[in-house]
Parts: sequence; C-alpha cells; structure tokens
Amino acid sequence: MVVVVEHNATEKDIEGIIKVLHDFGFDVHRSTGVNQTVLGAIGVKPDFDTRQVELLPGVAHVYRITEPYKLASRSFKSEKTVIDVGGVKIGGDAIVVMAGPCSVENEKQIFTIAEHVAKAGAKFLRGGAYKPRTSPYAFQGLGEEGLKLMRKAADAFGLKVITEAMDGTQLDLIEQYTDVIQIGARNMQNYNFLRELGKASRPIMLKRGLSATFEEWLMSAEYILSSGNKNVMLCERGIRTFETATRNTMDISAIPVIHAKSHLPVIADPSHGIGIRDKVIPMARAAVAAGADGIIVEVHNDPDHAKSDGAQSLFPNQFEELMKQIRLIAEAIGRKVA
Ligand code: PEP
Ligand code: MN
Repeated sequence: MVVVVEHNATEKDIEGIIKVLHDFGFDVHRSTGVNQTVLGAIGVKPDFDTRQVELLPGVAHVYRITEPYKLASRSFKSEKTVIDVGGVKIGGDAIVVMAGPCSVENEKQIFTIAEHVAKAGAKFLRGGAYKPRTSPYAFQGLGEEGLKLMRKAADAFGLKVITEAMDGTQLDLIEQYTDVIQIGARNMQNYNFLRELGKASRPIMLKRGLSATFEEWLMSAEYILSSGNKNVMLCERGIRTFETATRNTMDISAIPVIHAKSHLPVIADPSHGIGIRDKVIPMARAAVAAGADGIIVEVHNDPDHAKSDGAQSLFPNQFEELMKQIRLIAEAIGRKVA
C-alpha cells in the first residue's frame, strides 16, 4: 500500500500516520522528496480497509498495490487453471462450446437440440431446470424432471451437462445429473451459497453479476476457492449499462483483463451478453478473438415458441454457422475449437 502525504502536512502529521501504520502491523518505508513525502506500507492483509488510513490528517491518497483476492489471482498461481471435465479440458488450448436451450421444456425439445448441437461440435449441453426468472409468473423450469431429461439427452449424444443451481438445497440433487454447476448472475454475491459451492463435487461456472466489477467478481470466485473447490471458471454474460438498444452490454474487455488478473478459465455467453439473436454470432466471434476459453450459447429448435429467451436463441443452422466462424477465428489466433 502506498500512502501519499499532503503537500502541507506537518512533520507531526507524518509521524502520526507512520505510528498508525505501525500499529496496524505494517513495515513502513518513508521517502521524502522536495515537494512530496510518500510512505510505503508492507504487509497489508487482503481485508484491510484503506479508508482507515485515508481519513488520517495529512493523507492525500492511498493506493492498494496488492489485490484483495489471493487464490484467484495470477500472482498466487501464474499458470492457467485447466479444468478436466471427464476428458473435456476447459482453460487449455482448445475452446470448449456449450450449447442448448435456455430451459429444458420437454423430452422431444431437449433431444432434438442435443442431437443438433452435438453434431455441430458442441461438447456440453446447456439448459436450465431451475430458472431464475425476473417474474414469478414466468416459466420456472421443470425441476428434477428437467435434470433427468437433460442427462438422458446429453448421454445419448456424448455431451457433458451444465445446468444452474439456484441455492444450496438443490446441490445434492443437481450434482447427480450435471457435470458443471452454473451459478447465475443474480446469485454472484450470494455469499453463503458461494461457500456451500466450495464443498460441491462438481466444477463451478460463476457468471458475472449484472453490475459487478472485476474485483467483486473475483472476490466471489475467491469465496468458492477458499471454501475448498479449486475448479472454478468465470462467465462474462453482459452487464447493465446506460445503453438500452441491447439487453445487456457484452463486456468483451472482461476476457483479456480477467486473464491478466486471474488464472481461472473465462467463458463467454454472447446470448445473454447481447440478448438479440442476429447479434449473437458477431459477439461469439469477438469473444473468441479476445481469448475466451469457451462459449456458452442458447440454441433452440423452435425459438419462436421457446418458454424462455427465444428471442436470443439461435436456430440450429445458425449454430452451425457460429461453429464454422469461430473455428476460423480460433485458428487465426493459434487455438482450436475442441
Ligand atoms: C441462463 O443462462 O439462462 C441465465 C439465466 O443466465 P444469467 O444468470 O446470466 O442471467
Ligand atoms: Mn437464458
């Protein structure tokens, strides 16, 4: 932590600041220039609240130079985390594609979609059995029946399963059917739930909260990591901004920035990221170009009659086109699509 002292601070102010820093347990290194004194404080704990120094007389600015998260950070682990989901590696050279409907609706729907996305090259079947809907009157998902159908459809076509858990009471059940547990944007800061995920037997895909900063998102990952589950991937799914032309603003910058800050794999969700079907493919291309380790995308055999998110779901032939295009982009940046 670096403490910049005000120009007109007195020697007494500076000594007072140094004493407080010592009392907090820091080693203090003072450097005095012609116009400015700067104090370097070594040994700052991740949970230290810098405002406790900011408010001292004579302090101009306080800069934290270490991240408040540890296990999620690149400085803690420099090599990228690769999560092996039954032979499908997430975070390695190959880009993993997860595709399927927003919600599992019935057997015919999920089998039709699973067959199609598997043939086109997806490795995971996505789909919700428990849906976090803005309206309590909207379709909430098929529950356990949806999990069973999804597992059956995925197994029939050699796919892995990713599905959302909304709270800790669902975990035992969902773990029986899924390969990766998705945590929705709305639950990113449900800290008790994040702690429970630390005990889960499956890898976790943690979506970015609707208005979460990178630091908040990584702190949420830290909850899961520090509770014992090291298999965490992050998912950029668009954030709230002042723009109203799209459902969310797909923050492509999250991909390289998180990769620099963290060793965890980053997945991109262009479907929720932009929320408009004909803009999903360009967003997927951009995400791959920016270095995403995977793409999760909504695909439906009859999107006009989908029970949720039909307007952002690709038609099966559009998904084939997406696969074709991202293969080209992956190759251009020295990667491939798994
Ligand atoms: C979903 O994947 O269908 C979903 C509800 O995602 P999010 O939590 O990002 O809104
Ligand atoms: Mn959806």
